[in-house]
Amino acid sequence: MRQGRVDIGQRSETVHRANLSAIVRGLHERGPLSRSDLVALTGLTRSAIRALVCELVDAGMVIEEPALRRGTPGRPSPIARANPRRAVVLGIEIMVDSIAAAIVGLGGVTLAESRLERTRGSLSPDRVVADITELTESLLRRVAVAPIGIGVAVAGVVRRSDGLVWMAPNLGWAEVALGERLTEALGLAVPVSIANDADMGLLAEHRRGAAVGVDDVLYVSGEVGVGGGAIIGGRPLMGVAGYGGEIGHMPVNPGGIPCRCGSTGCWETEVGEGALLALAGLPPDAGREGVEAVLREAAAGVPTAAAALDHVGRWLGIGLAGLVNILNPQLVILGAMHGRIHATVRPVMEVELDRRALRAPRESVHVVAASLGVGAPARGAAELAFEPLLADPAAFFGSAALAPQLASA
Ligand SMILES: [Zn+2]
Repeated sequence: MRQGRVDIGQRSETVHRANLSAIVRGLHERGPLSRSDLVALTGLTRSAIRALVCELVDAGMVIEEPALRRGTPGRPSPIARANPRRAVVLGIEIMVDSIAAAIVGLGGVTLAESRLERTRGSLSPDRVVADITELTESLLRRVAVAPIGIGVAVAGVVRRSDGLVWMAPNLGWAEVALGERLTEALGLAVPVSIANDADMGLLAEHRRGAAVGVDDVLYVSGEVGVGGGAIIGGRPLMGVAGYGGEIGHMPVNPGGIPCRCGSTGCWETEVGEGALLALAGLPPDAGREGVEAVLREAAAGVPTAAAALDHVGRWLGIGLAGLVNILNPQLVILGAMHGRIHATVRPVMEVELDRRALRAPRESVHVVAASLGVGAPARGAAELAFEPLLADPAAFFGSAALAPQLASA
């Protein structure tokens, strides 16, 4: 009997916490919602929603405001929104030529951000840890806040369980225990989650960009390296250890050139920034400015620039055709350099897609440029850091809130 009562009590507490999670997640991901919206979103009764929202308002996580009348009949329903000052996280990105950090509040509001431009090839693990420590300390001083979690997006292959960067060929890293090193260097006593930069760019686009509401989406993000990620049936494609989605190292050309990963003819060697610059006759370290120069020259009719873009566009189409056949996505998002060249290479890329993808999956997919631009990986990393709170907000009811006067600084 006694055992039975305990079980029922535990079960109802579990349900209660899950309902709080559904509301906080809804407000964080979708923005302000009325009580009617929350009823529709959760399937709970109006009175249950009222009680749960009151609890979240008391905990400081949610702010309720009177609704603006918008010509709808009946009583106006108060609008609830996440309180960005109640819980913040740190989102960090480590790219080949820059380190960025942002403090993001509940609801996805960026409260402060900063970026350090770095020379390619200069970013040793020691340098990156020192840069992140400096950025973090200056941001935390500006906002005067203790984050509840830290998310880090890095341009490399990452083991999610412990934040080991197994390989980051374009940073020149192998087996760097980044999670451990950052936890120790920052000394903030909160979880540090490390993930691949393209996976985090995709998460940001899915939450707040071009893929909101789309459950089958492939993300391709090319710069020096070519990364990717996929969400299939609403869930990120991870693989058994979190290494999944390394589409840049998909072998596409057995007669191709050596790749930095050690293999030959990877997709990255045909569609990456290095391939574009080399084919256009520019130095391999010309970077983003080099890509802009190629686009300008192609628009002015310079044949080598146009041919270089055609080559990349054609190989983009070939690789995407295979991925579309395997994954059947509704949307393909091209990020970073591929987003910037999309408008120019689109015709040649679409020809290859039409020629090589199976008709049914080809007809159901759209290819678009990313909508969030620079900083998408850091925003995605912030979303990763919010996950424990979104999964169980009640576990954070006792944590310190950010002082309002400091939050607006
Ligand atoms: Zn490779």
